[in-house]
Amino acid sequence: MSVRVLLIEDSSADLRWVVSGLASAGADHFVVTTAAHLTAAQALAEAESFDVALVDCHFFMGDAEAFLTWRRLFMANMPVVLLVSPEEEQLVCRLLKDEPVDCLFKHETEQRLMVRTLEFVVERFHLERELSIARAHQERLATHDALTGLPNRTLFLDRLSHNLTLAERNGELLAVLFIDLDRFKTVNDALGFEAGDELLKLMSERLQAVLRQSDTASRCGGDEYCCIISGLRSRADFERVAQKVLQALSSTVELKGQPLTCMPSIGVAVYPDDGAEATTLIAHAEAAMHSAKQQGRCCYRFFNPEMDGKDSRLLGLEVDIRNALERGEFSMHYQPIISMETGHIEAVEALIRWQHPKLGMVSPMDFIYLAEASGLIFPLGEWILHTVCAQNRAWQDLGLRPVRVAVNLSTMQFGGSRSLVEIVRKALDDTGLQPRWLELEITEGATMHNPKAAIEMLAVLREMGVRVAIDDFGTGYSSLSYLQRFPVDTLKIDRSFVKDVTSNPDSAAITKTIIALAHVLGMETVAEGVEDMRQMHFLRELQCHYVQGFLYSKPLPADDMTMKLRSENAALAEFRPGKAATETSSLAVQIRSMLGKSESLPVLSGTAHKLLELSKNPDAGSNMLIEVIAEEPALAAQIIRYANAPFFGFNGSIASLEQAVMTVLGFDGAMGIALGFIAVKSVGPVNGILAADGFWWRAVAVAATAQSLARQRGVRGRVKPGLAYLSGLLHNIGSLFLASKFPNVYLQLKQSNVLAVASGSAAEVEARILGMTLTEIGRQLLQQWNLPPEIVNGVGHQDQPEEAGEFANYARLVRLARTLLDEGETDEEQLKVLASAVGLSSDAVAEVWQCIMGGRDSLESLAQQLAA
Ligand code: C2E
Ligand code: CA
Ligand code: CA
Repeated sequence: MSVRVLLIEDSSADLRWVVSGLASAGADHFVVTTAAHLTAAQALAEAESFDVALVDCHFFMGDAEAFLTWRRLFMANMPVVLLVSPEEEQLVCRLLKDEPVDCLFKHETEQRLMVRTLEFVVERFHLERELSIARAHQERLATHDALTGLPNRTLFLDRLSHNLTLAERNGELLAVLFIDLDRFKTVNDALGFEAGDELLKLMSERLQAVLRQSDTASRCGGDEYCCIISGLRSRADFERVAQKVLQALSSTVELKGQPLTCMPSIGVAVYPDDGAEATTLIAHAEAAMHSAKQQGRCCYRFFNPEMDGKDSRLLGLEVDIRNALERGEFSMHYQPIISMETGHIEAVEALIRWQHPKLGMVSPMDFIYLAEASGLIFPLGEWILHTVCAQNRAWQDLGLRPVRVAVNLSTMQFGGSRSLVEIVRKALDDTGLQPRWLELEITEGATMHNPKAAIEMLAVLREMGVRVAIDDFGTGYSSLSYLQRFPVDTLKIDRSFVKDVTSNPDSAAITKTIIALAHVLGMETVAEGVEDMRQMHFLRELQCHYVQGFLYSKPLPADDMTMKLRSENAALAEFRPGKAATETSSLAVQIRSMLGKSESLPVLSGTAHKLLELSKNPDAGSNMLIEVIAEEPALAAQIIRYANAPFFGFNGSIASLEQAVMTVLGFDGAMGIALGFIAVKSVGPVNGILAADGFWWRAVAVAATAQSLARQRGVRGRVKPGLAYLSGLLHNIGSLFLASKFPNVYLQLKQSNVLAVASGSAAEVEARILGMTLTEIGRQLLQQWNLPPEIVNGVGHQDQPEEAGEFANYARLVRLARTLLDEGETDEEQLKVLASAVGLSSDAVAEVWQCIMGGRDSLESLAQQLAA
């Protein structure tokens, strides 16, 4: 191949000298193009490509700098050889001091040497160029990730330090984002490395696209990315960036024709709050990322100092977990899953615990992923299934009412070398547990990567009779559309939605949709993480089937769970209607017969008899009533205090019994209170079973709340204050009676209290266990004591709101008041939910709330004084 020469020379003699010299190498060896001055040469160099340029030295008039600049600017793509005449030799010497230059001395250099020089120069230029490309590549490799082309950890650290200096100088904030692509490993396992690589590249592209040019995204581990976000002003700005990144990375991609969703967990650490040094910021962002992962993935979290200590505590766990199984450090805890319909424990979820010899209890959140990473998950998974099936079988062998046990499966267990079906079958065979008492909880991710295989496997399991639940439903969404095709029995609504279901409209909407969807598909729903009554009420409204959460019980060690099942069993087995109809009715019959025999009833005091006579005397006046009441100072005191309760508006200004009866309560009101008081006194507090102060508090508080509500509804005029009070007591009179005559039954009822709350109404549970309600017992007692029918019936109406009549409205309010008090943690929001059920406006609710809160202290102290 010929060598293309650009010859820049204005003297024809010199030109000829060069051309003839080059010609000596052969006709085509050098192809020469000439230019008469520098500008012409520049134009040529731009238009064509040359292998070498020869330029006359005198164009630069002795200025070495001018030559170097010209060469750099216009001849960068080719080597340049200077043609030097003897008088210009000085320039060359000056040049040679700092820069290598190639020269031919005009008319002195031999032709052969001229040819060799040019060939050498061209060859060297090529070599140098290759070398510099290789060097640049090498440099890139040392600082960039080969697969994605993103900066690697080294360069990232470098840039971070640089950015931190700038941030400090400019007083700006800076954030480090630590991103982990959850389930990347599963993609690798299920679809192969190529797909894994493809996914990483895609995610890098998305990351770069969503960040600004000035931000740095880097890959700093297998499926981990770090980013520097600088130049923002507030945490809210960083939050927006994190949100954007989350969105970009979690939108669905297609890999090998399969739609797939990554679930990134993002941790954010902000300079200067979370650290001033690069390594600290990265470590803190990573800690926040782990915390985001625990939050349920596909979310971001900002660092807080609590996250820090925890992580360092867990550093050595990877090593320890390898032997934990052999050392017997794992155990299973069980958390009840309650049926909304019956209030019974319908199933339990098995949750693993690791008792670490030094660290104590380690959460599965902190070690399941280690078990997955180390492969321990396979033997561990088998151990879990076996242990749990054996435990459930043992409960059945104890004669307890059978419950389902739900076991969490790791996504990896779907792809192990031994088939999951075989493992499950073996656990069932070995322990003799029937398949229908086992439920497998899988996450959406398990089915995401290979839906077809997953559907087949689940179908086989279900054919065996094992139930399948989708866990944490709602947190991943790729398989929502597959759901219809999935053979599952149960959807477990993730705790993150339940957590703020009553405060966040989005969570409420999602929860609603999931439950509705499940209903349509014929699946059951379990709400996880139910912690308070409001959540429970909301979920009940939506007809969620089951609830699970700290409201009912934390996960319990096996022995504690046995106790819990036993006590529920005792309460149910003895008194369940249906199967145990005879037993139940026999209890109800016993109670009724006792209520029907005056010799087995508590005896009313003399004051009570006087009151009863008065109540039947049409001529009796308030003065006579006051006289009787005055005989019982405790009763008199209570009536005065009740009249001063805030909802009457007298606020402590009522000082005498007369005033209370004449101005506030009237004859009927005072009579109602007096009879209620006397009735309770007659049954008498049962020591050790009923706390006396709670007892009074409840009576007064129900009355007070009901009165307030009644005023709001405009029905107060029709309700005698005394009746409100009595209805508050009625339930308690029944409790006292039951506690004194059937202490064991009473205790069982108390144990079912939580369940009673779950099933929405204490009355229903009472009816199930006793065959009648406590209020009914109280009412029958009043009847047996010959209390005036108007009082007995009035109180009765209040307890049966479905009955029509003038008390029906008010009765609903009494119920509402009772429910409010049942819940214990009354607050305004809750009150609103409940009040809307009886058609009260929120203004009215606010006023009622004032009333209750305003009166609460005084009510409490009133109750305490009464108890004393
Ligand atoms: P998960 O399957 O969603 O389990 C429910 C988690 O929520 C449990 O945490 C439980 O203790 C907790 N929880 C229950 N009720 C409430 C509540 O009212 N409030 C709050 N804040 N939390 C509540 P735990 O036991 O720490 O388990 C965490 C996760 O670890 C589980 O989440 C599950 O994904 C995994 N895991 C637990 N046991 C196993 C197991 O045996 N095998 C596998 N593969 N994973 C397990
Ligand atoms: Ca679970
Ligand atoms: Ca869950």
